[in-house]
Amino acid sequence: MEGALSISTTFTPPGGTPPYDDLIGTDGLQRYNYRGTDPQHSENVALRRAMELGLPVIWFVAVERGAYEPIYPVWVIGEEPALHRFVLAVDPAQRFLPTGDAAPVDVRSYALSLTKVRLHQRAFRARVLLAYGGKCSICRLKHAELLDAAHIIADGQPNGQPVVPNGLSLCKIHHAAFDHKILGIRPDLSLHVRPDVLEEVDGWMLKGGIQEIHNKSLEIVPKSKAARPDPERLEERYAEFLAG
Ligand SMILES: [Zn+2]
Repeated sequence: MEGALSISTTFTPPGGTPPYDDLIGTDGLQRYNYRGTDPQHSENVALRRAMELGLPVIWFVAVERGAYEPIYPVWVIGEEPALHRFVLAVDPAQRFLPTGDAAPVDVRSYALSLTKVRLHQRAFRARVLLAYGGKCSICRLKHAELLDAAHIIADGQPNGQPVVPNGLSLCKIHHAAFDHKILGIRPDLSLHVRPDVLEEVDGWMLKGGIQEIHNKSLEIVPKSKAARPDPERLEERYAEFLAG
């Protein structure tokens, strides 16, 4: 029991950017701030000990008040005392990568893509799905295995932050239809299906799942106003849909 068992990140309100979001090193690896600034604080000592012993820890990321997404296993693989923070591996494949300036460019981008998938996208998905009660906002489907957190503005673009108002809980079909511009969502939350798709004749999935939602509205929106889809982002995305 010398080493830390877990670390945690507190809840960020829906429109806010989680604290870990801008804590990625130039090597693509996630950083985790010290408790306070004293390197000898008991929690910092315990994390350092977990690093020395090579023990995994569990990262509890708060995705709603009192609800956590556990990210496991996570390893502490380095320390930056001057910056009061540790370096984490959020995937086994990151454990033995070079950190800091020693990391070659291709290794950095590999590390970064793992950090995004294993931590950022996972936490974003959990936050968005919780805000929508675990249902597709278009068809109410509520099987988590069949749901995604869709970005309104893509990750990496300006306004593409992993915040709940930039997300929509969508089932796989509606997510793909949204991404492939078969389906557009207006800022007033009404749905628009591409005209040529409206005229196709096919089976019940096309009819009930796509064509019949034309001009209807999102069925599910978060209770909290701050968590609802951002009209400005929707407008930007809808302009892309029209242009497509
Ligand atoms: Zn759906």
